[in-house]
Amino acid sequence: MSKRVLVFAAHGDDMEFTAGGTIAKFTDRGHRVALVVATDNDKGSFELSADELRAARDKEIHAAAELLGVDKVVCLGYSDGELREQCPVPELRGKFMRIIRELKPDITMTWDPFSPYEGHPDHRTVAAAANEAASFSHFPLYHPDQIEEGLEPHFVGEQWYFAKSPRDQNKFVDITDYVDRKIEALYLHESQMVLTVQDLLYALEASGLSVPALDGLDPHDYKAVINAQIRAVTGAVGRANGFEYAEGFRRERFGPIPRLAKDQELEEDV
Ligand SMILES: [Zn+2]
Repeated sequence: MSKRVLVFAAHGDDMEFTAGGTIAKFTDRGHRVALVVATDNDKGSFELSADELRAARDKEIHAAAELLGVDKVVCLGYSDGELREQCPVPELRGKFMRIIRELKPDITMTWDPFSPYEGHPDHRTVAAAANEAASFSHFPLYHPDQIEEGLEPHFVGEQWYFAKSPRDQNKFVDITDYVDRKIEALYLHESQMVLTVQDLLYALEASGLSVPALDGLDPHDYKAVINAQIRAVTGAVGRANGFEYAEGFRRERFGPIPRLAKDQELEEDV
């Protein structure tokens, strides 16, 4: 059965870094994926102005989404790093709930609001708002103005969370056939790949250590480093779970129902 997947990201490359292979697999299997990006990434560069960056990011986000088969992209345009000030969680929850009630997803995917070591305030803000929106979008008394406008309450059965730590992961997706497309999608986020490598170089310099693959590297020559990093991370998750490459998530499905429905198994979406 074809399902609707709705991804809530803080930044344009969040989905590709954490779930790019899974998204490609979802769309290849006929599931429809929509992406909401809350901020415009206007602080994600050491070399471009905020205006130059906003223009570049818009193109990069749409190109990568197209490569992964995403059929709808919604950019909310808040400033990078200032989401919690510009749109606090209760307000963002209402915006996300409206999108859920419009697109009626079976599955939502976002940052984990209960992950203890998440450093980025935009990730924490999106995580809290998306979790609350998906948990309560079927309650008609939440944001009743939307119901009065004609939108219907909508029940979200599955919430998938990006999980950086193996401690939190309970769903593993074999992306062996999709790791190349994940990496190609990341390359399309060119400004952010340059940023990622430049950030590594600052850490390298501050550490006083030597990493031969990074020594003297021009951040614009990011492909080999990104390729190696992604293969290392997804390869480690894969090896621990019987695959060549895998992505791990924390997934909640249908509340307590799978436990109550004895001797029955839910089908896997991907
Ligand atoms: Zn991010």
